[in-house]
Amino acid sequence: MTSLVIAEHDNASIKSATLNTVTAAVACGGDVHVLVAGENAGAAAAAAAQIAGVAKVIHADGASLKDGLAENLAAQVLAIVERGAGHYSHLLFPSTASGKNAAPRVAAKLDVAQISDITKVDSPDTFERPIYAGNAIATVQSSDAVKVLTVRTTGFDAAAATGGAAAVETVAAAADSGKSRFVGREVTKNDRPELTAAKIIVSGGRALGSAEKFQEVMTPLADKLGAAIGASRAAVDAGYAPNDLQVGQTGKIVAPQLYIACGISGAIQHLAGMKDSKVIVAINKDPEAPIFSVADYGLEADLFQAVPELVKAL
Ligand SMILES: Cc1cc2nc3c(=O)[nH]c(=O)nc-3n(C[C@H](O)[C@H](O)[C@H](O)COP(=O)(O)OP(=O)(O)OC[C@H]3O[C@@H](n4cnc5c(N)ncnc54)[C@H](O)[C@@H]3O)c2cc1C
Repeated sequence: MTSLVIAEHDNASIKSATLNTVTAAVACGGDVHVLVAGENAGAAAAAAAQIAGVAKVIHADGASLKDGLAENLAAQVLAIVERGAGHYSHLLFPSTASGKNAAPRVAAKLDVAQISDITKVDSPDTFERPIYAGNAIATVQSSDAVKVLTVRTTGFDAAAATGGAAAVETVAAAADSGKSRFVGREVTKNDRPELTAAKIIVSGGRALGSAEKFQEVMTPLADKLGAAIGASRAAVDAGYAPNDLQVGQTGKIVAPQLYIACGISGAIQHLAGMKDSKVIVAINKDPEAPIFSVADYGLEADLFQAVPELVKAL
């Protein structure tokens, strides 16, 4: 039994979602291989070889893999699965935009059911995944020969990035599918940690009242704590914060060490995205706000007073 983890990387380094996915693969049992598909991605492959628990890195390098087009990545995974016919029992993708783009293509071509967003491995063929915005956990057993899984990264601890010494095998890159073409990428420039990888997140809700107030109140707190900034959907919909900061069922799923919710009511759709945070602090002036039911520390206060005081005290 061998699992293949499809690494998320930027050709130079491995993204943290890969480390959580390796932990899920280890839980499936058997050996863990990691596929690094990119162009000039030798440094990323070398980094993958260091991950604890990884037995082998397969490094596919070529122009067709440069920009992570899902069609080409899926073709690469299928080429490796076919080459090692019957060898791979599990194919694991991080449940990120890129993983979710490639995994269904692989599952469809293999004619197997994809099991999405797993949060626990009960046994090599049985997995747990949240449904109904995290209000129920489904236990799913698969009889498919190959399990195609996307892994909710917040459900698994990150594997140690160093300590391993896997062999790196180089394979030919799959040919360009010709079905899609890379046109361009607009990357938001942000000095803050990435929301899904941040250890501390300070999040603002509708209570902030305007984009200016959101900036004025939340930014100093984030700066003091070296935190990423998140927002509720109400704050995003009102234009107080950009879309990519939304935390929740239809936003990002996060599980930082510390999550500070300021003026967020704690609707189930918001909780679905952050309730696995290690320590939750809520600042809300309504003592009945549902956010207090998941908070480790609750402060019943006006955030416009409490947050600046907190910044001053830090
Ligand atoms: C299909 C679907 C998907 C959704 N997905 C998401 C999602 O991904 N993420 C998400 O966040 N929401 C999501 N929602 C929306 C969700 O239901 C809530 O509407 C939203 O989370 C509310 O945001 P909020 O807590 O900022 O605003 P509100 O519910 O308006 O809460 C504001 C809170 O601020 C408090 N407050 C007001 N003034 C102050 C003050 N001065 N000081 C301190 N506290 C104050 C109030 O007591 C209140 O608790 C979704 C909804 C649906 C139907």
